[in-house]
Amino acid sequence: MSGALYVIGTGPGNPEQMTPEARAAVDASTLFFGYAPYLDRLDLRPGQERHASDNREELARARAALDAALEGKTVCMVSGGDPGVFAMAAAVCEAIDADTARFGGVPLTIVPGISAMMAAAARLGAPLGNDFCAISLSDNLKPWNVIETRLRAAAGAGFAMAFYNPVSKARPWQLGKTFNILRETLPNSIPVVFARAVGRPDETIRTVPLSDAQPEMADMATCILIGNGYTRVIARDGQPDLVYTPRFVPEAGNG
Ligand code: SAH
Repeated sequence: MSGALYVIGTGPGNPEQMTPEARAAVDASTLFFGYAPYLDRLDLRPGQERHASDNREELARARAALDAALEGKTVCMVSGGDPGVFAMAAAVCEAIDADTARFGGVPLTIVPGISAMMAAAARLGAPLGNDFCAISLSDNLKPWNVIETRLRAAAGAGFAMAFYNPVSKARPWQLGKTFNILRETLPNSIPVVFARAVGRPDETIRTVPLSDAQPEMADMATCILIGNGYTRVIARDGQPDLVYTPRFVPEAGNG
């Protein structure tokens, strides 16, 4: 019997931000792989089996899911947010790439989801309303000097930015260094948004100018959005501030 592998994203945490397509993949599957807090977001029925694993075991998890699909199971790999953004879709592709003879024939469907930066941006207005990039600040899988090079290039080119994985116990100094690098070239007034646990009951959102941004304002559940030189903060009467980046860039400007 031929199995299949779905790779889905749950969205940032609010059940309404999980797509109907992802829910249909969950319904169709009998075996679930993923990091336990993401699996906890699913309402599984009796007979749907969970294989929770630790956050750092992505490649082994991907291989196990592909093996189960080869055995004929309909398998669902579960990420938070979108599965293609710093998540399991790439790990599954790496596992197939490393052993195409074994895994190349597994029917694979990647189901897109709402990524944290999108849910965070929607809370504020449109901070990513012009060109932007997303950078994971984790140096677990890439050297720190690559991250520094990318930060300087993005700041120099006028991109707004979304930072994922901003801090962890094992990475205590990287976010402070990141803010210092940005302060070398960006105006102090650029808004920095700390969007924590977006879409969950403990959501908090805080916007400060780059000059006041501190690493302690973020934790592992925070997505940080940085504007470009044209990003505006609009104070409104009785309504929360709007943060948005206009669609236009003046001639010869780079933000
Ligand atoms: N695939 C996920 C990202 C996984 S990396 C996505 O597309 O959203 C994990 C990082 O995502 C966290 O460190 C944090 O930076 C961000 N993140 C995930 N869920 C979030 C949420 N609800 N609110 C804010 N940031 C979140």
